[in-house]
Amino acid sequence: MSRKPRSKTRKLQLQSLSILGVVAVVCAAAYFFFFQPASLLSKTAETQTIPESSITKTAHADFPALFNVVETAEHTTTPFTLHYVLTGKALPDALLKDYIQQLKESYIQTADFTGSNNLVLDATVIPYQDAFYSFTLHKRILQQDVQVSSETKYFFYDATAEKFVTFKQLLNHEEDKLATIVALLRQTVEQNSQYDHLVNAFFMQPDYVPTWRDFERFTLANDALTFTFATNSTPALMDIPLPTEKINDLLREAYQLPLPKMANVVPADYVLDPTKKRVAITFDDGPSPTVTPQVLDTLKKYNAKATFYVLGNKVEESPELAKRIVDEGHEIGNHTWTHPNLVNLTDEAILDEYTRTTNAIIQATGYTPSTFRAPYGSINERVQNVVPLEAVMWSIDTLDWKHRNPNATVNIVNANLHNNAIILMHDIHQPTANALDRVLANIQAAGYEMVTISELSLYID
Ligand SMILES: [Zn+2]
Repeated sequence: MSRKPRSKTRKLQLQSLSILGVVAVVCAAAYFFFFQPASLLSKTAETQTIPESSITKTAHADFPALFNVVETAEHTTTPFTLHYVLTGKALPDALLKDYIQQLKESYIQTADFTGSNNLVLDATVIPYQDAFYSFTLHKRILQQDVQVSSETKYFFYDATAEKFVTFKQLLNHEEDKLATIVALLRQTVEQNSQYDHLVNAFFMQPDYVPTWRDFERFTLANDALTFTFATNSTPALMDIPLPTEKINDLLREAYQLPLPKMANVVPADYVLDPTKKRVAITFDDGPSPTVTPQVLDTLKKYNAKATFYVLGNKVEESPELAKRIVDEGHEIGNHTWTHPNLVNLTDEAILDEYTRTTNAIIQATGYTPSTFRAPYGSINERVQNVVPLEAVMWSIDTLDWKHRNPNATVNIVNANLHNNAIILMHDIHQPTANALDRVLANIQAAGYEMVTISELSLYID
């Protein structure tokens, strides 16, 4: 109790001391302001001061939660042009403005006053879901028109919570998930020659122990989580995208994408039974309102499961048929939108054929297909690299589209039946639907189970 008054006195003394200090600083400033020691001040203005700038802040055209800022200073030796982003919220903007201020200060401090300098900042915004944004601010410093330094700063902004999110927070502080990220990165580098420049990167070292700080340079988009790493060659930096399907489960729940379930009809607790014989029947090019219902009825009669490689445009026309296929326990697969020969298309067009179809299937059924078949079975390495799912071929071609003869379809299947066969038919031709009862009866009599492609793949992979 007796110590209290003493400490109070001490506090007062400290306060008066600091007031004295402030007074001294103000006096000194006033002295410089009024008397302007010429030699000192002019030198400061030329070498140390950030030039005055004009700022234009406008609502971001694409993202209502953000503002676009252009800040320019037209100065003879140290001009700058800064494009960046603000959020209109106090805390995140304080952090962003602090970064911009530091950028300008270090630019002035390292400027070469014997010639021209320039500081350029560019902003990129990548949206994720409705209210998250990755933005990258890319800085370049030039002296005599030669770039002397460059750097990219990464931000991930949660517009709902009005705060920045670190990678550690994104992964819910769970270090074992970071280890999974490292494993995915290693796998990507090892399996794709395009990342050869990163085979010696820090995360590839066998004794590497992951730390959060090594993964600050990331962007998260709806299709991928992308990391940027330094290489020891050219290009100096490389991006590695990890597809969202692979990392979605690692994210904290609030940041996960509501991905549709995979239309993979193998139950999680499926037990392999290699003693049984099985075949996978596949129907391409549908669904057809006139033929597919009969095909589904016949499959049901034999308790047979099949896989339907559907065309996106037909799913859009008959979404209820796509839904019925899935509801009755069959697998639905992607067979492109317009049935083109994919090897003749550009990468972009191939991806469009694939993505539109997957989206139509999701729209109609709520499931994303986990299997793909290229039209005409026409595939090459380039097409396969563009399409995210491995193309599934067949081992028995009924040629039903050509002969349109139920007897021929029955005979071709009978003559070629083998364990793990993949049988190709088309649920757009009436003779195929008419042949199906006999085809299924024969397969069943020969002791084969009729399974989906996903189930079959458990045995033949
Ligand atoms: Zn086809």
